[in-house]
Amino acid sequence: MDKKIAVLGDIHANIDALDVVLADAKALGATDWICVGDVVGYNACPNECCEKIRALGAATVCGNHDHYCAFDESLEDFHPLAAAVVAWTRRQLTTENREWLRSLPYQKVEKGLAIVHATLDQPEHWGYVFETVEAEPSFTYQRTQLCFHGHTHVPAVFVQHGFGAVDRLPPEDFALVLGRKYFVNTGSVGQPRDSDPRASYLLYEPARRAVTFRRLDYDISAAQSRVLAAGLPEHLARRLAAGR
Ligand code: ZN
Repeated sequence: MDKKIAVLGDIHANIDALDVVLADAKALGATDWICVGDVVGYNACPNECCEKIRALGAATVCGNHDHYCAFDESLEDFHPLAAAVVAWTRRQLTTENREWLRSLPYQKVEKGLAIVHATLDQPEHWGYVFETVEAEPSFTYQRTQLCFHGHTHVPAVFVQHGFGAVDRLPPEDFALVLGRKYFVNTGSVGQPRDSDPRASYLLYEPARRAVTFRRLDYDISAAQSRVLAAGLPEHLARRLAAGR
């Protein structure tokens, strides 16, 4: 059987979205799993999400929320709403899940594929890549043809042509072209921000060198109820329906 790698990230403790994504990937024949980080933060089910990703044996890198929820660092530079959720998540995490989050590397190369949460040039500084100029430094450090990342919660394809120029392409299915490098954002499972509230992830098939983007409806109201029941900020429930 040819390999089919499910690449997902920015799950953000949204178990309702994660369950739908995992079921879809399994139905489509996923054989391997990559997680670009931010398993926790924002939503109400951090332990459940950690446990699902750990059970899959997914090759996983550390996101900024994973880092701040797993380590007891000062949150004084955080937006107050974000700090409240980090503090709440710290109290929820089991020792095992906290240790697992602490063990995650900032970046990883798995079977010829690079994985990072934010950027390859300074993975621990959590820079955002929305535009081509922000993608350029990562390409300097990208030794593989393909790198998967997340962090913006907006799916996108950045391509560096053989002559060095970088373009941003919409998140549409494509096959890798020899001589080009790709820095591909999977979008967010648990808190999409491209005005499309559906859960986002992608599949990569090495034999065909093909990337397929997936968007899936899930029970948003169930996820919202969990956020409110946990006493987390109402804004975090509302934004799930808006996809912002
Ligand atoms: Zn995130």
